[in-house]
Amino acid sequence: MNHAVRTTCPYCGVGCGVLASSVNDAVEIRGDHNHPANFGRLCSKGAALGETLGLSERLLYPEIRGQRCDWNTALDTVAQNFARTIREHGADSVAFYVSGQLTTEDYYVANKLMKGFLGSANIDTNSRLCMASSVAGHQRAFGADTVPGNYQDLELASLIVLVGSNTAWCHPVIYQRIQQAKTANPDLKIVVIDPRRTATCEGADLHLSLKPGSDSLLFNGLLVYLYDNGDSNPYFVNTHTQDLEAALNAARASAPTLDAVANGCGLDKKELTQFYRWFSRNEKTVSAYSQGVNQSSSGTDKVNAIINCHLLTGRIGRPGMGPFSITGQPNAMGGREVGGLANQLAVHMNFDPANVDRVQRFWDAPNIARGPGLKAVDMFRAVDEGRIKALWIIATNPVVSMPDADRVRAALARCEFVVVSDCARNTDTMTWAQILLPALAWGEKNGTVTNSERRISRQRAFLAAPGEAKPDWWMLSEVAKRLGYEQHFNYQSAADIFREYAALSGFENEGQRDFDISAFGSLSSERYDTFEPIQWPVTHARPQGTARFFADGRFYTDNRKARFVAITPRAPVNATDVEYPLILNTGRTRDHWHTLTRTGLSPRLSAHAPEPYAEIHPQDAAQHQIQNGTLVSLSTRWGKMLARAQITPAQQRGSVFAPIHWNDQFALQARVDALANPVTDPISGQPEFKHTPVKLMPYAPAWQAFLLTRRRLNIPELSYCARAIGKDYWRYELAGDASPKDWPSWARTLLCTPVENNLRAEWIEYLDAGIGHYRGARILGGRLDSCVFVAPTSDLPARDWLASLFARETLSDAERTHLLAGTLPSQKSNADGGIVCACFGIGKDTILNAIRENKLDTVAAVGEKLKAGTNCGSCIPEIKGLLNRT
Ligand code: SF4
Repeated sequence: MNHAVRTTCPYCGVGCGVLASSVNDAVEIRGDHNHPANFGRLCSKGAALGETLGLSERLLYPEIRGQRCDWNTALDTVAQNFARTIREHGADSVAFYVSGQLTTEDYYVANKLMKGFLGSANIDTNSRLCMASSVAGHQRAFGADTVPGNYQDLELASLIVLVGSNTAWCHPVIYQRIQQAKTANPDLKIVVIDPRRTATCEGADLHLSLKPGSDSLLFNGLLVYLYDNGDSNPYFVNTHTQDLEAALNAARASAPTLDAVANGCGLDKKELTQFYRWFSRNEKTVSAYSQGVNQSSSGTDKVNAIINCHLLTGRIGRPGMGPFSITGQPNAMGGREVGGLANQLAVHMNFDPANVDRVQRFWDAPNIARGPGLKAVDMFRAVDEGRIKALWIIATNPVVSMPDADRVRAALARCEFVVVSDCARNTDTMTWAQILLPALAWGEKNGTVTNSERRISRQRAFLAAPGEAKPDWWMLSEVAKRLGYEQHFNYQSAADIFREYAALSGFENEGQRDFDISAFGSLSSERYDTFEPIQWPVTHARPQGTARFFADGRFYTDNRKARFVAITPRAPVNATDVEYPLILNTGRTRDHWHTLTRTGLSPRLSAHAPEPYAEIHPQDAAQHQIQNGTLVSLSTRWGKMLARAQITPAQQRGSVFAPIHWNDQFALQARVDALANPVTDPISGQPEFKHTPVKLMPYAPAWQAFLLTRRRLNIPELSYCARAIGKDYWRYELAGDASPKDWPSWARTLLCTPVENNLRAEWIEYLDAGIGHYRGARILGGRLDSCVFVAPTSDLPARDWLASLFARETLSDAERTHLLAGTLPSQKSNADGGIVCACFGIGKDTILNAIRENKLDTVAAVGEKLKAGTNCGSCIPEIKGLLNRT
């Protein structure tokens, strides 16, 4: 084994430390026990990183219109087109759309080039889609985008309020830390505020299933309750805050009584009062919130409604308390720090003339932007309207992830010049690019990232760059040089960029700006290599970093006092729509990340949710005549999709949940963001992904099928198709509106190339054309090569036993005999109800049976019996849920 390289997980904002080492030809991934974010833990996604490092899906060479070219030609073309567009149409006719996947160094160079040298602020990031409302809320309350506390506060708290956050699935290691704290301190109370009963609720003392969009009312009610109950901290409020009266008046107007709040939020008054009482009695309270708060047309108000309660009680800046925004992406925070949002200039400076002057002098920038650029949704609108004519998309996939994504696709199709730099070869966005630039992937990159608690960590390369892939900062610098800015972008390494960035953070700062890492302004390259995780600010006066902000009660507003913000709750835009009577809520699944370009390569991770699905409440399902496991059509005023129905009482009546991950590379008609309302919060510009009116319809195709095969197939256009990788096989779920005339030849055409058709393959088949049933298996050299099962409905055999046959070199006689039955007669059922424990491949039914048969009553007992939940621990909330059910 090679020595392990210390790096950081590329998925969520927890920012776990990872040890990567080469073992034979594979990469072994372990949690880093010395990293203060995770202390050795990894969730299922982090633990499976080694399965996502293959080169089969990589972009390895620059291309112009699908033809490989050399770097010089590609970069010259990018520079010439950007220069020409600016010359002919002005600086605001170009834009960069970047990503929380970038390192801070990549981000810094992109921001500097656009805002300092191209002369526009049209650079925005996909972090706009996940946490812009938190940024805006922080700026309104604190005068700067400051995260006050850290993860340790969650362990020191006596009350943790999780608002709009499925922490168990989206930030699993934070959730594990919370659960461990609860084990150590059973008095710790956990409250989950979420319309859905998510896996996070399994470890909670109280779940408030509030009406979608009613968060501001809930926290306005809390503000009034705390004030009337004498829980305010008069010294803190009088000395360190302003504008309480206006905030209190607005809160009282919307939430005059507990009954009014309970009614408005759709909550039981007893449970509401319980929450308020706990908040009142527990000084050590952390309110952690995430996309359920941010992704709203009133997301900024929701953030401030939460912060107001912490300001009133003075619960901020001290151990075990504070409002806490948990970010979605690995480097969403780094992007915020650099200035990667269109409404920020650089390093937490806005477009105030003094800041513009300061940054202009520091960069020696000839064309500095003097005002904000276009935020993500407006940026793509400008592309659609032809106002932006040259666009560089870096490390992100907006055709999948933006709201009203079909319009984004159409906008790119008509844009004059689109460049995409990415490590993946096939994304839905790349189809529309004239130029593709191969970027380094995680594992090959050097740089820094910042996690949700302001902790800067290194990403370190442990793999050589494949093909001609290059760092994003290098491509941007090369284009800058070609535009005439050689001396300003003459970076030799990520360390060079980091030093300049650190120096800018301290330039004329004098404690006026929160973000200051000036202690690293002259960091040597050797020390950059051995850089240890540290929380900013890091200055010469504070070389060990800073665990918490605001303990001194000094904020970053003009008078250094925090601001209460008066909140008048607003219903979501288009809250109701008679034609689209339900509400679509979107979010993540446990084992997938973004648009599947990485997690979709892992058999382990794909097992948990192998196809797009929609969670529907049983009464809504009954009303719409939708059966569990059947296909359902979802449509909104912006788009439509197909998904597999999962009927569950965990879903609130009137709401439907669908995950964000699937796209045209993995499924047909399953890009959920094509359905999302593109309305945004007026302050933060963050879209309302949690609340789009939607219509449900059962979808009844002429036939449905699944295929398991050793090869990835080219499936012809069908009504529905979803693929997932398994161990030694690919799984395809299919449906069509017209049945083929001849099922056996359809199967052969699909499963074999003409050359393979001539091989001496053995087919075992069953056909009942009258009722539309066909089953076929292709055996090659005694080994199962592929199998296909077709029926007029979704009533098809379970996939588990058949999938397990792909691990066999030779099928036994019994397996061959019963292949087309989909199971062995000795097995009661081979359906495992879906994978729960991805690490050991253990399904729901196996766990339920073990619980019943062995009278297991704890997660530990289940682990001892089946091993489930004993590795990464991501499935523990689901195991708890199964224990609760039995
Ligand atoms: Fe990665 Fe999981 Fe840690 Fe998030 S919680 S950083 S996905 S290992």
